[in-house]
Amino acid sequence: MAANKLDALIIGAGVAGLYQLHMLREQGLAVRAYDTASDVGGTWYWNRYPGARFDSEAYIYQYLFDEDLYRGWSWSERFPAQPEIERWLHYVADTLDLRRDIQFNTTIVSAHFDENTDRWTVTTGDGEVIDTQFLITCCGMLSAPMADLFPGQSEFSGEIFHTARWPKEGAELAGKRVGVIGNGATGIQVIQTIAGEVGDLTVFIRTPQYAIPMSNPTYSEQDVEAYKARFSELRDTLPHTFTGFEYDFEEEWSALTAEQRTERLERIYNEGSLRLWLASFGELFSDQQVSDEVSEFVREKMRARLDDPELFELLVPTDYGFGTHRVPLETNYLEVYHRENVHAVSVRNNPIARIVPEGILLEDGTLYELDVIVMATGFDAGTGALTRIDIRGRGGRSLTEDWSRDIRTTMGLMVEGYPNMLTTAVPLAPSAALCNMTTCLQQQTEWIAACIQHMNSNGLGIIEPTIAGQDAWVNHHDEIANATLVSKTNSWYMGSNVPGKPRRLLSYIGGVGAYRDATLKAAANGYEGFVLR
Ligand code: NAP
Repeated sequence: MAANKLDALIIGAGVAGLYQLHMLREQGLAVRAYDTASDVGGTWYWNRYPGARFDSEAYIYQYLFDEDLYRGWSWSERFPAQPEIERWLHYVADTLDLRRDIQFNTTIVSAHFDENTDRWTVTTGDGEVIDTQFLITCCGMLSAPMADLFPGQSEFSGEIFHTARWPKEGAELAGKRVGVIGNGATGIQVIQTIAGEVGDLTVFIRTPQYAIPMSNPTYSEQDVEAYKARFSELRDTLPHTFTGFEYDFEEEWSALTAEQRTERLERIYNEGSLRLWLASFGELFSDQQVSDEVSEFVREKMRARLDDPELFELLVPTDYGFGTHRVPLETNYLEVYHRENVHAVSVRNNPIARIVPEGILLEDGTLYELDVIVMATGFDAGTGALTRIDIRGRGGRSLTEDWSRDIRTTMGLMVEGYPNMLTTAVPLAPSAALCNMTTCLQQQTEWIAACIQHMNSNGLGIIEPTIAGQDAWVNHHDEIANATLVSKTNSWYMGSNVPGKPRRLLSYIGGVGAYRDATLKAAANGYEGFVLR
């Protein structure tokens, strides 16, 4: 097959793209992955800001399709930092010899479906044109940075960095006056890491965050052997839990006494993981009273770490429930505000008006003079990676326009009107946020590989969702989502961080195991909800 003619083109060489490439190559397909980055890694290539690290346990974040691949890599600690994670993905790419089929430094700018040939015409930023039967998007959930947010950014006389575009060579922060905008999972990691290094740190906080201390022991050889020995158990468990983590809900809040609830909360809190959020009590996501009580438990823990009641107001959330959006793990994040060189500024009622050459100007005219501005301002999640590409389906339909009206997918695996475009980490699947990403991405890429194999074995050339099939999935998704407290809280989970983005819970919240069963059942029933020919 000519170099510019493929069976399958994969956009992205991160966790999903690497495995997708491996599987389709094993099937003997002409397949190639493209990535804007200069090497593999996806999220773990781009997010090299100070303090970037896992908050999924490393040993569950690994691929589980090959025991040798799993055992061939050893982690140094429970929640390793970005450089180690990036090295792991290099190890995967090397072991599976993937780089020879990846084109780096290449951005896909358009993909148009040709109804005469039933194939996609894909164009790169360099003007290269590729003809492919299948277009597979492995672009990541959080890869379109919200980087251009404030008027005057280009006039700033110092340096501005978005955390997801942190320079490879690092940034010189020592002794400087640094401002951080944003205190989500990213901002928190940056703030706690650079506070001791910079001259002066000003954190601009619009919405305080619940914070749970991370327990991050380093691993001995015995620890590593112990988790590796659990490979089969992890492989058999992770795909079936509520969030793709190893732990799952154990008890119902309503079945416990007040003392038992406190005992459970204390014990789980002390584990120093995301378990308090993802696998303590299922009612946390739906029952206002449980949410109130667990939120107050976490608030008490936070207040106990702060020595100044004024900081309570700035740092402890009171107007939304614990876990109704992403909970970060942290290390001394709250204590950092006791340092003399660290200042928290609330921009809730006095927002950032613009960036000026000297620094950040608030609406009331207060100017914060700065040398460096760190934008930990998040992403256009789930949709942004694809809407920033000119993707056209049947009749020239534009995905950017479709999703600007309403965000709809069929199981997060396809979009009606876009034949042979298979998607991962897009809305209406757990991989759109509420899961251990590798668990969910493995499941989706395996579903896609099996689907393509089925088509090729049966002489089928086209798959696309039916309107009825897509409507049914969207309705099912909404029914579950709307019964939760998550859908009532503003955050990127609901798309509310992007002006004008249609409001819908991006992640499927029926559970990773349930989602997996639904997608496998659809396939087993002759790809119910899809048309193949
Ligand atoms: P984020 O959660 O969307 O946080 C963005 C922050 O920027 C928020 O504090 C937001 O305030 C603030 N912000 C945005 N626009 C602003 C404005 N105009 N003025 C003032 N503040 C503004 O983004 P993120 O922290 O990058 O995290 C995104 C996701 O990445 C996380 O939820 C997580 O899933 C993932 N992540 C994972 C890890 C990990 O696995 N270890 C680490 C980092 C991130 P508001 O809340 O008021 O909007």
